[in-house]
Amino acid sequence: MNRSFIISIDMGGTKILSAAINSGEGIISRIKRNTVNSASQNSYIKTLASIIDETIHLSGLNEDDVKAVCIGIPGSVNPYTGSISVAPNLGIRNLNLVDKLGKYISYPVILENDVNLGALGIRHFGVGRSARDMLVVFIGTGIGGALIFDGKLFRGANYAAGEIGHMRVMDGGPLCGCGKRGCFETLASRSAIVKNILKDLKSGKKSSLRKMIGPGRPVKSRALAAAVDKGDKLVINRLNEACETIGYVLSDITNLLNLDLIVLGGGLIEALDHFMIPRIKETFRENVLKPSAKGLKMVSTKLGDDAALYGGIPLAEEFLGISV
Ligand SMILES: [Zn+2]
Repeated sequence: MNRSFIISIDMGGTKILSAAINSGEGIISRIKRNTVNSASQNSYIKTLASIIDETIHLSGLNEDDVKAVCIGIPGSVNPYTGSISVAPNLGIRNLNLVDKLGKYISYPVILENDVNLGALGIRHFGVGRSARDMLVVFIGTGIGGALIFDGKLFRGANYAAGEIGHMRVMDGGPLCGCGKRGCFETLASRSAIVKNILKDLKSGKKSSLRKMIGPGRPVKSRALAAAVDKGDKLVINRLNEACETIGYVLSDITNLLNLDLIVLGGGLIEALDHFMIPRIKETFRENVLKPSAKGLKMVSTKLGDDAALYGGIPLAEEFLGISV
């Protein structure tokens, strides 16, 4: 039987997800591998090549069945040349990954920013299927964004559009990884919320998280959700604060762009959408201009980590004319 698949990969700072996928059968095999932080670029590329081989082997596909490899990168990427200008969490700078991978594998390779890839997955296979003008925001360790206009991904002049996490929200706010102060993600990401909770604990306030928090023990989104379920006031206050900030930012963007859909995702939203989305909507409604938000929907993605994997399918179609 002639089968057509792509290998879709999501490269994170701490793990690589890889899957064999097509639009008819979905994901037929997947591999999750932790990455070594200190790895050199060469060993990283070798690891990637071996994960691609393993995914194909695990899926029982022949090499001929695999039409392309699509890779999501947490950083700025030129999908036309395959070069990464900077991916801070991977420790990569000025690397043409497509050229380098070409030494190990024979499939066509396409790169895309990971949030863009997630947005493509949501647009074609998730809650964004009928959206025309859509913003996708992933809230986790940081905050990433992607824009779909007229059903198509908007990449911007240098393929760097969508950096919503670095919109300045507070004068003289907390220092951001980008070097500026008061960026959106320094106020409303999971890391920002946890930092504020730690500050409260140090000042002697009570929380059910006290026993779980300590050096080298990062607080996961699920732990925050459990604290909310217990009615933990400190955690609820800090989350409310973040929801308000998110609501303001989303209303500003809606005033500018008159979107029809906002999709929220990422670890924090996955664990807490029932709590956060109504609160975000409240601030949003109070601040947005009515005509800009008429008919707008705000929902959470149901695809989780799979959004970016699915995004490889429309990416291969756009760049290689391959439909799988
Ligand atoms: Zn920043």
